[in-house]
Amino acid sequence: MRLSRYFLPILRETPKEAEIASHRLMLRAGLLRQQAAGIYSWLPLGLRVLNKITTIVREEQNRSGAVELLMPTIQSAELWRESGRYDAYGKEMLRIRDRHDREMLYGPTNEEMITDIFRAYVRSYKDLPLNLYHLQWKFRDEIRPRFGTMRSREFLMKDAYSFDLDQEGARHSYNKMFVAYLRTFARLGLKSIPMRADTGPIGGDLSHEFIILAATGESEVFCHRDVLDTPIPPADTDFDDVAHLQSIVDKWTSVYAATSEMHDEAAFAAIPDDKKVSARGIEVGHIFYFGTKYSEPMKATVTGPDGHERPVHMGSYGIGPSRLVAAIIEASHDEAGIVWPDPVAPFDVALLNLKPGDSATDDACGHLYRALGLRGRDVLYDDRDERPGAKFATADLIGVPWQILVGPRSLSEGKVEVKRRATGERELLSIEDAVVRVA
Ligand code: ATP
Ligand code: MG
Ligand code: MG
Ligand code: MG
Repeated sequence: MRLSRYFLPILRETPKEAEIASHRLMLRAGLLRQQAAGIYSWLPLGLRVLNKITTIVREEQNRSGAVELLMPTIQSAELWRESGRYDAYGKEMLRIRDRHDREMLYGPTNEEMITDIFRAYVRSYKDLPLNLYHLQWKFRDEIRPRFGTMRSREFLMKDAYSFDLDQEGARHSYNKMFVAYLRTFARLGLKSIPMRADTGPIGGDLSHEFIILAATGESEVFCHRDVLDTPIPPADTDFDDVAHLQSIVDKWTSVYAATSEMHDEAAFAAIPDDKKVSARGIEVGHIFYFGTKYSEPMKATVTGPDGHERPVHMGSYGIGPSRLVAAIIEASHDEAGIVWPDPVAPFDVALLNLKPGDSATDDACGHLYRALGLRGRDVLYDDRDERPGAKFATADLIGVPWQILVGPRSLSEGKVEVKRRATGERELLSIEDAVVRVA
């Protein structure tokens, strides 16, 4: 992509409404525009990152055996009356009336709708286990939308819903998502910690929030430092191996980690002082087993091997990709701007032409641009008629992992400069070596 033909509205001034670094940087680097309180347009650079994240989320959901579908954003109030949640949900639900005066709502979550889909088609235990997921915009009329897409009113969610014959099966479905979440956040360049979370009236130990440590996080969290070094399950993990999956989950959950609601002072006090972590965190995912809470009132039943009908055991599993964009920036930025982890970067390489119009420089840039494109690298080519200083600042601000600086001085020695954004390390390389270096 040539920057002269792209749409990258960089802000020079720091927007004063932004209280935290990620929000400031998302506005300044042209990722985002607020359209109303807690409602945003995703500008091209921001959309690229969001799409990178959802691709990884999908790959890991699919790997675990979950099946993607797509439900609508608008739902009918009737469904929510069946579960009893229409009145219970409160003011966070955006309620809408259509022209026929029918009560509708903009979905804040989809348990009711997925249960309706399930009961329409599935009759037998032989069709279980089943895990259906989608990536869809949600609306919650948050009382205090803030920090940009960290807590917005309209936000993207990956929500998955599992169906099993009994609690034992549901635990395995839960463990699959547990492992898929560990892998997903690790691939996004984040250290996530599964923390015991409140299960509400259902009880049990089957609810975990996945938390990223960050000073600006809204949750107060406590954990044993060792949890940060627990190995991530590999890509070839067998998701059908019930005992193996349980052993992975046991390993993770045997180390103390809890949010303030579930905090156990005595258990925390027993941890050696140098291993105690008391910090703030961002909830980026949440998994939950809730048994027959929806299947019972909504009559989502299957026939078991014994011929008896029974309500299915369900769980739901959420990830917030739009919150993740902000969370990744909170975890990875410096004075000059964003520092994207490679897997989610909007472009792989920023190619800076330091003297547009100089034929040797233009030729070298053109060659690099084509060569990298052929190797499948996404290159943002800064071909604008701007001073080098402005180009350096833009490249640092938008945080693309590699920069290639091309100017007459180094070119006279047949070299270009390759800079790694994260470390600031610079190398003078031949054009061919530069291509190999960033490929
Ligand atoms: P929070 O405690 O931050 O309000 P929640 O517990 O209400 O979140 P869940 O219902 O568990 O959220 O939804 C699943 C995921 O959706 C969350 O873990 C988070 O990543 C994302 N999410 C929830 N609310 C928002 C929001 N207002 N803006 C952006 N992402 C959100
Ligand atoms: Mg909430
Ligand atoms: Mg929460
Ligand atoms: Mg939650």
